[in-house]
Amino acid sequence: MHRRHLLAAAGAPFITLIPGLARAEKPMFSDADLAHAARLRDRALQDTGALAMVKGLTQGIGARPAGSPADAKAVAWALAQCRALGLQQVRAEPLSLRVWQRGPASAALVAPERFDLVVAALGNSVGTPDGGIEAEIAFYESYAALKADTSNRAQGRIVFVDQRTERSRDGAGYSRAAPARFGSAVEAARRGALAVVIRSIGTSGGSSGGTSGGDAPERIAHTGGMRYDDAAARIPALAVSVPDADSIAALQAQASAGASGPLRLRLQVANQIGVEAISHNVIAELPGTDLADEVVLISAHLDSWDLGEGAVDNAAGVAIVCTAAGLIRAAGVAPRRTIRVVLFANEENGFDGAQAYSQRYGTQRHQLVGESDFGAGALYALRSRVSTDALPAFEAMARVLAPLGAPLAGNDGRPGPDAAMLMRRHQWPGVELSQDGSRYFDVHHTVHDTFARMDGSALPQNVAGWAVVAWLAAQAPVAFGPARG
Ligand code: ZN
Ligand code: ZN
Repeated sequence: MHRRHLLAAAGAPFITLIPGLARAEKPMFSDADLAHAARLRDRALQDTGALAMVKGLTQGIGARPAGSPADAKAVAWALAQCRALGLQQVRAEPLSLRVWQRGPASAALVAPERFDLVVAALGNSVGTPDGGIEAEIAFYESYAALKADTSNRAQGRIVFVDQRTERSRDGAGYSRAAPARFGSAVEAARRGALAVVIRSIGTSGGSSGGTSGGDAPERIAHTGGMRYDDAAARIPALAVSVPDADSIAALQAQASAGASGPLRLRLQVANQIGVEAISHNVIAELPGTDLADEVVLISAHLDSWDLGEGAVDNAAGVAIVCTAAGLIRAAGVAPRRTIRVVLFANEENGFDGAQAYSQRYGTQRHQLVGESDFGAGALYALRSRVSTDALPAFEAMARVLAPLGAPLAGNDGRPGPDAAMLMRRHQWPGVELSQDGSRYFDVHHTVHDTFARMDGSALPQNVAGWAVVAWLAAQAPVAFGPARG
């Protein structure tokens, strides 16, 4: 034990330290609990319920931005699904919120050539004045270049941020690029810009490589949240499709070389800001036995952006965690701790559901929090974010997960957006079931995020992973917290 702690404190990767030591210790789980976990895994791999749930939420209801009539339908649908799965304490907890509503948006390049652009306003963006905005482009090759600019060249112009999103399995490319979506409006406004247009944060189309069938690059714009700052003017913020961004970058290169005049853009956008609305967190439980007051939280978010059907983001996650809980219920053995499924409201544009959950349940003891919010891709790793004492429990989980090809890969897990917020705020232990996100950002936050385009073949493997982790977390003889920082 001492040796392990010393080495862990010195920063050595824990996974190299456990073998040999763990075997000498008392087994973490009973044979019965491990056998039950393996049974859950094998049943999940044969279960097709998750795909049917995704279809119901996408093709049956469709896009469900928080507070919309479709969001209310999704809440009713989720309650019915959870009850049909035999979950208990099924409830919708209301919360009031102020939502953003998209209106029409159009944009065109007007010089040195003239063509219409495929755009989407970013979530929270204000509209343009009634007559629209037309101005010269101030071109920045990246968000970092915009932030570093100390000149006045953005003054009175439309800032264009050509931040590219690299394809990556773990979403690191997205994480690097997304600050351009959140922060460009503030940076541009501070420099006197009239509006900001960004290259879509996503890997669809054009130079980023994604195409639907190998012919024309996809011209789809990726929306997503952005924010303002009270110290800077609120200027309209739009994303342009990747092929359109490629065209703008090529024309800018010509203009910079003196081969043409400056680029000019024309924008017209109308959005509604701060509309009062109601949404709900949907919660369902498998009540625990001797440790019923402690919670294993498995979650997803029920809302989606208004484009597409919200299939990979996040009907897939909803279906995965609900189906996993349903399988545990169907297996007929009550968990020691309470397994709680939470389908959060408005993850996409405000985290209202996670905030409400934090206020209501923040003092309750949580054994583990996790969220499935990375599409329908296959699991390839398990990552904990727990106290050192809990690491042998994850070693044991990983052995049950071995047939799924998802080994334990570290104690630096990122448990999904809502769950990560709760983990940080309350020091609750977290878990990440890492999914292959190589194709996720081809459709993320676009009109292409539909059931028809989703590959659902890895859903059962995901369900198996969550069922095993939730079950063993509920049975573990040790507390997993407090979370490792
Ligand atoms: Zn999501
Ligand atoms: Zn999203």
